[in-house]
Amino acid sequence: MQRLQGIAVSPGVAIGETLVIDNEGFRIPRRFVARDVVEGELARLDKAISAARAEMERNRDTVAQKLGDQYAAIFSAHMQMLCDPHLRSELEEMIRGRHYSPEYAVSRALRRYAKVFQQLENSYLSQRAHDITDIEKRLLRHLLGHRREELSQITSPVLVLAHNLTPSETANLDRRFVRGFATEIGGPGSHTAIVAEGLQIPAVVGVGPFLTDVSGGETIIIDGDQGLVILHPDEETVARYRHEVEEHRSFAAKLETLRDLPAETSDGVRIQLLGNIEFPYEVEICKDRGSDGIGLYRTEFLYLGADVEPTEEVHYEAYANVVQAMSSDGQNRPVVIRTLDLGADKVPNMPAPEDERNPCLGMRSIRLSLRSLPMFRTQLRALLRASTLGNVHIMFPMVSTVLEFRQAKMILADVMEDLEEQGIPFNRNVPVGMMVEVPAAVVMLDRFIDDVDFLSIGTNDLIQYTLAVDRSNKDVADMYTAADPAVLRLIKMAIDTAGQHGVPINLCGQMSGSGTYTMLLLGMGLRRMSVTPGAIPEIKKICRSVTIEQCQRVAEHVFTLENARDIKSYLKEELKRAVPELLI
Ligand code: PEP
Ligand code: MG
Repeated sequence: MQRLQGIAVSPGVAIGETLVIDNEGFRIPRRFVARDVVEGELARLDKAISAARAEMERNRDTVAQKLGDQYAAIFSAHMQMLCDPHLRSELEEMIRGRHYSPEYAVSRALRRYAKVFQQLENSYLSQRAHDITDIEKRLLRHLLGHRREELSQITSPVLVLAHNLTPSETANLDRRFVRGFATEIGGPGSHTAIVAEGLQIPAVVGVGPFLTDVSGGETIIIDGDQGLVILHPDEETVARYRHEVEEHRSFAAKLETLRDLPAETSDGVRIQLLGNIEFPYEVEICKDRGSDGIGLYRTEFLYLGADVEPTEEVHYEAYANVVQAMSSDGQNRPVVIRTLDLGADKVPNMPAPEDERNPCLGMRSIRLSLRSLPMFRTQLRALLRASTLGNVHIMFPMVSTVLEFRQAKMILADVMEDLEEQGIPFNRNVPVGMMVEVPAAVVMLDRFIDDVDFLSIGTNDLIQYTLAVDRSNKDVADMYTAADPAVLRLIKMAIDTAGQHGVPINLCGQMSGSGTYTMLLLGMGLRRMSVTPGAIPEIKKICRSVTIEQCQRVAEHVFTLENARDIKSYLKEELKRAVPELLI
């Protein structure tokens, strides 16, 4: 049994067979073949070896012709390795003796070789592991006959293991079949993580290199609560986890009874509990879970995987669906639609990555919208048109200065004039607010107050910009935490400033979806939270189990503590005490 520690980004436990996607998207296949097909499988292996060899020969000749023999030598070395009789007999033994599939045998044998090289101290030699990986890929390509595995085409239950999954690949995972995933890279605040939580797929990222230790079809466990990936689990561990899964299932069923009850503390303070969504269909999940509305609709996901820019109609349809769903029962629940937050890791090709050295500090979000006016205006037109269908709020992301916010509002006013001239209806009094996610905006928040109708704290970015810690980098993930006292001070400042001026303030970062922080946030005076849809029942349960006074005591104590680790463990203890039935 091998336990690998990664970063827990989407809760829940999944047990099942792996589908391994390596760096280049090759699916590392299942393990065994039937006894009576062994000869045919060996013939398939030999055919793949010959084809790979012929390909290498061609590459060698082309390179030799263009650059000289010394550059072509690498291909000769590859050919030598590929045609090594030892390798061939090892593969044959695996296929004949152990009934491994040729793909599995190839990946198993070559990954073992690569690992030996990887572990060598000498960096020149350890780099040779890449050559072996290259041979493995070439052979697999000939055996499998196609390149990139289509993740959206999976048709049986699997746990996906990959070097990385982009937010768009994650968004396209089919929840019916992909029961969990784990990746070698990725950080706690990445958009891949956010999408996984939205889809409610247990997920662990930032595990580090481990794909050489696993092949397709093996049983593993992904523990999205503890951030663990367990390879080759023993029976006792599987049984323990199956029990845990059962416990979570029955607890979730119990929480369903809260669906129609308000998120109200036990001393009668009503909390507005909203949902965060990326895709229109998630609005139904929010309704099912009994949310009070949508506190953050991330519209940049309209761009994920899209080859062409979405038209005004595409925008409008997406917004109209959500707004109508939230007002269909006459309740007029709020829907906060955020304008495009393109850039950084969300839609990494916008703007082109080579143009930016540090996309998080570059042309991202509202900055990009203000420089791409036709795109921005198209979205604003659609938003304003949708504003007649329900309780629409418009929110600008990543605002750093008052002038920036005013500029965005001026463009909105201009779009309103256009619509008016064209006789297209919209709500002129649509509330307009902003994300509070750049430290500068928190510090200067009193200067924004006269211009905004509402505020929403984005802790995902506020943490990254306050602590100078990239939210999607696993190597600094231990520093990326909402429990950091500096982050908490900024949140408190924002809540206090909004409160002093009577401006509604929400918190829509991932922090508010983690039960660990609920008492603290209530104690700090927050009365609106927008959370990932899967977290609504648990957060509601916590709100209904505590009093504001109790939460204020917790918050007071937290501000006497010095570091994130102490704060987190104190908060967990307090939560356990206040809501013992929670499965923490
Ligand atoms: C945030 O930064 O906290 C936030 C909610 O926005 P996003 O995660 O989309 O950047
Ligand atoms: Mg943000």
